[in-house]
Amino acid sequence: MMMLEAQAVHYQVGQAQILRGVDLAVRPGEILALAGPNGAGKSTLLALLAGDVRPTGGQVTLQGRPLDGIGLKALARKRAVMLQEAQVSFPFTVAEVVQMGRAPWQGEDEAADQVAVAEALAATGTDDLARRIFQTLSGGEKARVSFARALAQEAETLLLDEPTAALDIRHQELVMALVRRQAELGRAVLIVLHDLALAAAWADRLALIAEGQVVAVGPVAAVATAERLSEVYQHPITVMPAPATGFPLIVPRRGVPACV
Ligand code: ADP
Ligand code: MG
Repeated sequence: MMMLEAQAVHYQVGQAQILRGVDLAVRPGEILALAGPNGAGKSTLLALLAGDVRPTGGQVTLQGRPLDGIGLKALARKRAVMLQEAQVSFPFTVAEVVQMGRAPWQGEDEAADQVAVAEALAATGTDDLARRIFQTLSGGEKARVSFARALAQEAETLLLDEPTAALDIRHQELVMALVRRQAELGRAVLIVLHDLALAAAWADRLALIAEGQVVAVGPVAAVATAERLSEVYQHPITVMPAPATGFPLIVPRRGVPACV
């Protein structure tokens, strides 16, 4: 049984074909990493899977039901979204931002709301920031608070757009460990990652997307071959096993071209 599935999804804006026939399914209990070059269509695909944008062709289903037929409130209880850029335009405190994750559950159980918020703040190490104004935070702090908000929502599907991009190594590992815990709870996680070593270490499967199409999807080691990555990123890339962990190391060729 698939949790969330894009079926032959197309997305066109004017003459621009942004997604071209994308089939991709996230299963309960798995971390599916989504990677690909800048502009490949990752954030657009995430918005379509979230139901924030409607496809111009094909459809998205959640537990077998077309997203079109699911009301906004029901949808908000089923999937949490962390966007690439935090969308907070008023001077809310960190605690208020994380509480927004509970909006879909408003009026159900206030004690449960408080527990979910407190747990999300504590888990992400943002409880010390609770009274700060969100806009005054550093990029990495904002990212952890936005992630905490998604966690507090307690949805069975998580859609995370580059949650680790602004984080230092310790916080990258913290966020990925928390993502793994979500998967262990049976939740389905789709996570956009640029760091393929992070994907190799933490994701169950990797989907590579380029120019609006899924190039490959499967176990990370099978998808992230040197040949395929070099082609997709249009840069020579070497893949080698790390001695200690066995997770592949993904290394771009480095050097300043002679002509510069
Ligand atoms: P990624 O997240 O993989 O970097 P995006 O999904 O954000 O890429 O964007 C994919 C491509 O579609 C980019 O070239 C972007 O400029 C373009 N694009 C996205 N939304 C629109 C839009 N509303 N109008 C025109 N082009 C768009
Ligand atoms: Mg993006």
